[in-house]
Amino acid sequence: MSTITQFEHWIGGASVPPASGRHLDSTSPHDGELVFRIADGTAEDVEQAVTRAHQAQRAWGRTTTAERSRVLKAIAAGMRENIDWLVELECADSGKLPTAARMEMLAAADYFDYYGSIVRTLAGDTIDQGPRNLTYTRHEPYGVVAVITPWNGAVNQGARGIAPALAAGNTVVLKPSEFTSAGSLELGRIATEAGLPDGVLNVVTGLGPTVGVPLVSHPLVRRVSFTGSVATGQAIGRIAADRVIPVALELGGKSPIVVFADADLDGAAKAAATAILLNSGQVCFATTRLLVERSVQDELVRRIGAILAGKQPAQDFGPIITAPQFDKVLEMLDTARQEGAHVAVGGHKYEEGVPERGLYIQPTVLTDVKPDMEAARKEFFGPVLATMPFDTEEEAVALANDTDYGLGGAVWSGDTGRAIAVAHRIESGQVAVNGGLMSNETPFGGYKMSGIGREKGIEGLYEYTQLKTVSVGLPDHGAE
Ligand code: NAD
Repeated sequence: MSTITQFEHWIGGASVPPASGRHLDSTSPHDGELVFRIADGTAEDVEQAVTRAHQAQRAWGRTTTAERSRVLKAIAAGMRENIDWLVELECADSGKLPTAARMEMLAAADYFDYYGSIVRTLAGDTIDQGPRNLTYTRHEPYGVVAVITPWNGAVNQGARGIAPALAAGNTVVLKPSEFTSAGSLELGRIATEAGLPDGVLNVVTGLGPTVGVPLVSHPLVRRVSFTGSVATGQAIGRIAADRVIPVALELGGKSPIVVFADADLDGAAKAAATAILLNSGQVCFATTRLLVERSVQDELVRRIGAILAGKQPAQDFGPIITAPQFDKVLEMLDTARQEGAHVAVGGHKYEEGVPERGLYIQPTVLTDVKPDMEAARKEFFGPVLATMPFDTEEEAVALANDTDYGLGGAVWSGDTGRAIAVAHRIESGQVAVNGGLMSNETPFGGYKMSGIGREKGIEGLYEYTQLKTVSVGLPDHGAE
């Protein structure tokens, strides 16, 4: 990207400079270069965006589902037409590989297609209370919804909330991560060009305390969808509790991949390696706790090591998003060593073969990890697998559930019946058995500290509706 693009907020269907007049630098974790400037938002900008969203909601909420479906599908088409540009923006500020960014963008566009389709089936029930009453339910929108996203899948995670929220008749104010805002701002522009009425989707950029807090606290915001860390989710949850508004929290994870001795070990090794290569392990549902039957532990680690050995930074995996996060992963690796874990593969930052300021860490496999070590309990949010052996199925399940989190999980076994039984016992919102597929149709969300609520699937649409019961007293026409 040759010139530095300056992005403003996207409010009321137009580019709007921040009231503060200030902008934040957005740098590439690949080489430390400045790539964009984004508006440094404040409560004043939030006020403007929420007001526009509130004004737009009445008309948008009164459209038919068929009308909303048409616009959502046009947004999906617009995203696909602009995909090269969206991928370029996403890669520039996140350091993501183009292949991964393209996959995420296509899935993001598909959220608009998917929710644009299923919203046409949205229907209430009738409840039989006898001939003197007509009683039915309606799925009504909340009004203005705040969607707050993290850096690691900005446009995709934004679309995951925006598409069902708009489909259900809400309007949205999106606050993307300050590290990766460019793609989300472009999504706002694309949506407007696709025919979304002005004010229905607004994007306000900036920092958590100066944009996120006033947004969640705004009296006209009636629902919050948050994706990010546990600490921020708790802070947002406290504000939402005081305001008595619903909040969906999609938080962190430390998900297990359970591998039995009879498993397809090549398949399991590929899945385990992919968990730390994709986005360098900076994926909330990444299965970064490798729980393996003791008799095949060495062989599985050897196969994972063989896959990782051929991978090159910036070609096969990306950097860590920020310098503080980079330092945190390296510090956690130091702690793991001090606590007695063995570094079987990787374990260091790249000194050579990457740009001088590139934030690259070697894909790492730790063995001899004990359940009480930090490496077994805390989210690295980096390319690190923590391996722990087990001897029995009971032990495997106990280890899998010995965590504060419950977002993802995987089970590999040649005995599908056993694998399914173990999957049912794992306390987690989604578990893939022998590489089973997860998609936009499959509900997603956390057990335990990984969150509250469900996104994706038809459940994701209902999250953005509130149920009203209407009962009509009817005149007696002698039906009895
Ligand atoms: P983060 O919590 O630091 O930031 C997320 C968003 O919240 C950003 O937009 C940030 O500006 C905003 N924010 C920060 N403080 C705020 C406050 N006080 N009030 C309101 N908003 C505030 O998370 P991150 O570092 O960007 O993302 C990484 C974390 O997100 C990891 O823990 C990861 O597991 C989690 N994550 C979860 C999912 C999921 O679907 N469950 C998906 C991706 C990432």
